[in-house]
Amino acid sequence: MQETREHTQSYYAATANWQTDYPLLAGEQRCDVAVVGAGFTGLSTALHLAERGYDVALIEANRIGWGASGRNGGQLIDGMVEVEKINEIGRKYGESAASTVRQIGIECRDAVLDRIKKYGINCDLKFGFLDVALTQQDLDYFESEIKRKRAMNYPHKMEMVARDQMHEFIGSDAYIGGMVHRGNGHLHPLNLCLGEARAAEDNGARIFEQSMVTRIHHGARPRVETADGVMHADKVVLAGNAYLGKTEPRLYGKVIPAGSYIIATEPLGDTLANEVLPQDMAVCDQRVGLDYYRLSADKRLLFGGLCNYSGRDPKDITASIRPKMVKVFPQLEDIRIEYEWGGYIAITIKRIPQMGRIQGNTYYAHGYSGHGLAPTHIAGQILADAICGDAERFDVFERIKHWKLPGGKWFANPALALGMLYHRLKEIL
Ligand SMILES: Cc1cc2nc3c(=O)[nH]c(=O)nc-3n(C[C@H](O)[C@H](O)[C@H](O)COP(=O)(O)OP(=O)(O)OC[C@H]3O[C@@H](n4cnc5c(N)ncnc54)[C@H](O)[C@@H]3O)c2cc1C
Repeated sequence: MQETREHTQSYYAATANWQTDYPLLAGEQRCDVAVVGAGFTGLSTALHLAERGYDVALIEANRIGWGASGRNGGQLIDGMVEVEKINEIGRKYGESAASTVRQIGIECRDAVLDRIKKYGINCDLKFGFLDVALTQQDLDYFESEIKRKRAMNYPHKMEMVARDQMHEFIGSDAYIGGMVHRGNGHLHPLNLCLGEARAAEDNGARIFEQSMVTRIHHGARPRVETADGVMHADKVVLAGNAYLGKTEPRLYGKVIPAGSYIIATEPLGDTLANEVLPQDMAVCDQRVGLDYYRLSADKRLLFGGLCNYSGRDPKDITASIRPKMVKVFPQLEDIRIEYEWGGYIAITIKRIPQMGRIQGNTYYAHGYSGHGLAPTHIAGQILADAICGDAERFDVFERIKHWKLPGGKWFANPALALGMLYHRLKEIL
């Protein structure tokens, strides 16, 4: 994929509600908090801080939502950390830490809905999510999830779907059953980013685009440098996630970038769209390199998958993903693919997001390890709370020890690819 400082050529960029054109950061400026990176993590942090009266500068290397946040599958899923990992947190850091993480997982979807509602953001929000099963093990997992969540008074309705009911939800014979979640759903992620940027601006945040931060001088008052300017700040937030690279050498290698890719068909028309996904739900299967898909507002199928840990993009995204789509929906064999794109997710070895501080006044949050749309939103709120002096939830994450891979991306990816191969073998076995 050839990247530029403009949006990748996705369906989302082609249907963005408007184009942003914020200025470059130039000259010497000052602010209370400089937020580096305008994906959901940075936008959520900046908006929460601006709402509380902070003078915020949001500095983005490319465009608002240029990274994973403006390119993703748009699947709105709650939960932040897998159950096994929450139990591990309980064993190592106490039940109260585990309960905080569990509660954050329940709240994070609402953190997105709150932004959409409060600022009237038009981002094609739809409710309804279908998890699909390929194996009996998947079905057993769904049953146990429903049971577990009922026991904890989980607020959303979830139900099993038997094999002979699957056609009420999906026009495919690829699955042996499923689980419906009425509270999760899907949306147009780039339009959500744009709406949040406008809300931050309306609350007084200053936004800079095409202004890559090249260096941060830490100290009592950090200096955030770009090619054309310097921002003096009391506090800094690093929200570059998989795209941060070596901007902050102490974070390099803490997350591993992994590629995920999406194709968008031509509009299917009402009849075919209704056949494929009659209830317009977002869908995903349970494999490590999962398929995830949904309809767009103009009734294209957006089909994603092929998580790639090798550090290399596929030569031909459509050639890699289309066969997966046709396997699930043979009726789409002759449908044209009109967009293809990909982006980078940040994985952590523990599969738990990382939050922390460098030299006391530079904060970071990254490594959502898969689905991040909802977790990024609550992470922004937790960062903003910490900056405002309430670090209770932030501290729970900061205490969790994480490993760093020496050599960052290029060393780490082959190691991770081997790990993933092991997971794939487990799936096959
Ligand atoms: C193809 C794909 C599909 C996905 N599908 C889903 C999904 O359906 N549901 C879901 O929940 N999650 C999904 N995810 C994951 C989700 O998109 C991410 O977890 C989330 O968007 C991460 O947000 P972020 O703000 O932390 O990072 P990003 O959105 O990646 O933003 C980081 C930003 O920081 C900027 N930046 C980096 N370094 C600098 C610097 N030095 N100076 C200035 N700016 C800098 C980058 O340009 C970028 O805009 C998907 C991800 C991908 C790639």
